[in-house]
Amino acid sequence: MTGPANPLALVTGANRGIGLEIARQLASQGVRVIIGARDIAKGHAAVEVLALEGQTVGAVALDVTDAASISRAVAEIEQRYGAIGILINNAGILIDAPGGFSSSLFDMTDGTARTTWETNVLGPVRLLQAVLPAMKARGFGRVVNVSSRAGQLSDMGSGFPAYRMSKSALNALTRIAAAEIGPGTIKINAMCPGWCKTDMGGADATRTAAEGAKTAVWLALLDESGPSGRFFHDCKEVAW
Ligand code: NAP
Repeated sequence: MTGPANPLALVTGANRGIGLEIARQLASQGVRVIIGARDIAKGHAAVEVLALEGQTVGAVALDVTDAASISRAVAEIEQRYGAIGILINNAGILIDAPGGFSSSLFDMTDGTARTTWETNVLGPVRLLQAVLPAMKARGFGRVVNVSSRAGQLSDMGSGFPAYRMSKSALNALTRIAAAEIGPGTIKINAMCPGWCKTDMGGADATRTAAEGAKTAVWLALLDESGPSGRFFHDCKEVAW
């Protein structure tokens, strides 16, 4: 990757699951990593887990549904560690259950839709707005939106309506932001980790969180010739 020799990455929702794996893999590649955790005690616990493995990472309190929390977290990171070069918008929720893939749009409550939107869409929007000015000023940035093929319009199906709509919107956000920034040194992409064994994915999932994290890490470390405004799964471009 061109750009800063020792980039600083913020991974949201990194105290467990795929976010923790992204933090682990980025740290093992020499990236300075800050774990965003809405419960800072869980963030510190994740720092300890990685410390036992020989990785040094930081943690910051960050609730992506709270604009003030985002401002505080970004200011704290910039003051303590420097400018954020890599933003991984990973924090997400899936609350359409009960019913899972058989949950119906016609049973979806306003509350489920609003809460899902706040976390999965407005959170990433706010984070982008918070970090892009510094990325533009420094002429370097990598933004990875952890999306899902559940939001793929080209293969849209039933089930998880609030979640699906939120990930379609996150994909749209990826394209809008990349189009506004234009080609150059800031890359903004979306990716799907696949169905991973995490609290969200459940025990029956077909892949590990470590496998799911790989494409996000690859996108975070793209060199200057890399793509922007695209959607990836297993490091291969997929349809929106
Ligand atoms: P997970 O195990 O449920 O972990 C979700 C993480 O997001 C947790 O750290 C959680 O923090 C955090 N989070 C939730 N709401 C937050 C908020 N308001 N502010 C800050 N952090 C918040 O989920 P996962 O499976 O790792 O999923 C990570 C991402 O991958 C999500 O965007 C998800 O949609 C996407 N994805 C997952 C799968 C899968 O099969 N697992 C498939 C496709 C896409 P707390 O610990 O405080 O709750």
